[in-house]
Order: sequence, then C-alpha cells, then structure tokens
Amino acid sequence: MAKKDDSSERGEQPETEVVHLGRKPFEQHGFVNTPVYRGSTVLYPTLDAIKQRTQPFTYGRRATPTTKALEDAITHLEGGAATVLTASGLAAISTAVLAFAESGDHILMPDNVYQPGRAFADKMLKKLGVETTYYDPLIGRDIAGLFRPNTKLVLVEAPGSQTFEMPDIPAIAAAARGQNIWVIADNTWATPFFCKPLSLGADVSLEAATKYIVGHADAMMGTVTGNARAAKYLDNAKETLGTCPGSEETYLALRGLRTLAVRLERHQQSGIAVAEWLAGRPEVDRVLHPALPGDAGNAIWKRDFSGASGLFAVVLKPVPEKALAAFLDGLKLFGMGYSWGGYESLVIPFDPTSYRTATRWRGPGPALRFHIGLEAVDDLIHDLSEGFARLESAR
Ligand SMILES: *Cc1c(COP(=O)(O)O)cnc(C)c1O
Repeated sequence: MAKKDDSSERGEQPETEVVHLGRKPFEQHGFVNTPVYRGSTVLYPTLDAIKQRTQPFTYGRRATPTTKALEDAITHLEGGAATVLTASGLAAISTAVLAFAESGDHILMPDNVYQPGRAFADKMLKKLGVETTYYDPLIGRDIAGLFRPNTKLVLVEAPGSQTFEMPDIPAIAAAARGQNIWVIADNTWATPFFCKPLSLGADVSLEAATKYIVGHADAMMGTVTGNARAAKYLDNAKETLGTCPGSEETYLALRGLRTLAVRLERHQQSGIAVAEWLAGRPEVDRVLHPALPGDAGNAIWKRDFSGASGLFAVVLKPVPEKALAAFLDGLKLFGMGYSWGGYESLVIPFDPTSYRTATRWRGPGPALRFHIGLEAVDDLIHDLSEGFARLESAR
C-alpha cells in the first residue's frame, strides 16, 4: 500500500496524528479525505462470501469505510483497543454503561456528572433494575467505601460538568481494579488530545465528539473507546442496541479532527486569558478552571493532562436578576446556548443546587459557564467589560 496509508504505528506527535490518522487516500483514488459512504445494503459477490463472513464491510449499521476511518483514528488517539461510534455524546454514555450494567447491579456516578447522564440513570437505569449512587467528585481512593458486592462500574468525568471539580482518575481506577469494577471516563472536556484516561487506568474513555472533535457546532456524535478487556462488551452493546452515527456526521467529525490540535491550542490560551481577566473583576467571587494555579484541581490537572480546553465557569457575587440579564442580554460576541466546543464563544447560566444530591454547592451568587471560542481575546474581553458596565448600572 502507499506510504501514507498507515500512520497508526509510527508513534508520531499528536499534532501529526490528528492530521493523518484514519486516512487511506490511495484506497480512494488519491483523494485526501475518506468520502461519505452512505448505505445500508452491502453486496456479497458469492454464496461463499456470505458464509465465510470475512468481508470487511457487511451492513451499513455495522461499519462503513467512513465510520471505520473515524473509529481507527479515535482508537489510536485514545490509546485503546477499539472504538464504537454513537449518534450523540449522551448515546456514548448510555451505550458504555449498558455494555456492562445489568439488572441487580449498582453503579457510581459523580455528583457533577453531565446532567442528561443523571437523567439516564434516574429514569432508564432505575427502570432496568440498576441502582445509582452519586459520589463526591473529589472522593479519590475513598471511593472504595462506596463499593458494594454488586457494584459494576464507576463513571468519572474530568473535570466534571459545570463546576469543574477535578477527580483523581488514577486513584479511583486503582481502587476499582482490585474489585473488578469497570471505570468509564467521560473525556469530553480535554479530548484525547489533552488527556488519555485509558493510560490513567480507566477501561473506557468516551467523548461527546459533538463538542471539540466536530468543533463547528454542526453535528451530533459520540465515541466510546475501550481497552482490550472492555472492547468486546462495547461492540456487543453497539450491535444489540443498534446505535450508529449518520454518514454525514461521521464525515464532519473526521473533518473536525484534522484541525483539532490548532483549535484546542487557541481555545486553551484564550480560555486561560479570559479566565484570568474574569478572576480580577470585582463582580466575580471565584473562577472554576483547573488550569489556573489557584484552582483546587490544578495539581491533578498538571499531573494527568497535557492541556486545557476553552470551557470553564465563574461564580458571581450576589447580583439582582435584572442586572445579570443586562450583562447577558447585551453581549455581542458571546452567544447563549447549550453545548460547546465550536469556534464561537458562548455563555450560559446554571444552578448546581438544582440537581446535586451528594455534595452541597456554595454560591454566593449565580454561576456562569463560559466557552471561549476562536475570536481575538481583546474583543471578547471588551464585550465582557461592556457587559459588566451594564450590570453595574442596572443594579
Ligand atoms: C455535551 C456532553 C455530553 C453529551 O453530548 P451530546 O452529543 O450533546 O449528547 C456528554 N458529556 C459531556 C461532558 C458533555 O459536555
């Protein structure tokens, strides 16, 4: 095969990997990108071919050359044995959990888990006879105290959604390993570019590729990567649940992957710059960003991550609702909306007291989650600074 056709074994730098992984141009007449293969039926040339079951592609739901390209790239980036693609990040969570959990099992989820994941546990898993306990994300090795004879898995999210507490994945994984408990990491914030949970002891690493991998707010997609022990359970879950992503979405994720390195570097730098500026504002009580030196999660972040993305939160001092509205409603560059990881800056208010059950959230004022996009930092800071002026005059 041609020289560029297998970049997976060369041990290159991550920046090089995201450009070359999963691409086989000379299997596509030299065209640089793996095209969008649309399809359900895949033809077999002979009766023997049906019986042998050795054909690489057999049915659209199972795999296409497009999905195979993304699976291979993500598997290599995560350092896993195999990857399963799903139609959304939430489907990545449900597929990963259902790969292992069965009726009568007990599972552990962090108190700051991505909220729709909590709804999956409370509404769907409960109905299937799987019990969930929420734990303090900072529990570390003391997680062992929550293990029961029927505990099947622990979900970790690093850092956790909205409030950005940084769990100690190696400590949790070490406690679980001796007990034969699976560890599933939601790695959406860092992406496999900045963190490799499997190398920290997790069995499964999943991504809402919707966020940074797709990177342009134009597709929904999830990935679930397992180590050698976990891979067959994930494949079985994918096949029995029938989860599979759309062809176009898979292509968009592959396309996003190619620029992941440069985008993330910029999200990181600008994110830290804006977070530091916000930390100096009199309206701000504290900034929740594990890459800032004063953050409680900073030591773990430095130990386990090679970078930070552009997502963090701030807790404001108490402020009347109408002053907060004046700040948010007039922003010109920050959109208000859910999801993140695209090229644009976003802000969204949130209230952790509304869903936490294992830990208590301390105000004092409202909390805002920021996603710092690829705009110039000065322009973003100018927009925010005008916002604070509006906030002050609306008090
Ligand atoms: C957004 C998100 C998800 C879910 O992704 P969707 O593609 O929106 O379903 C899962 N985990 C985390 C941490 C997320 O931020």
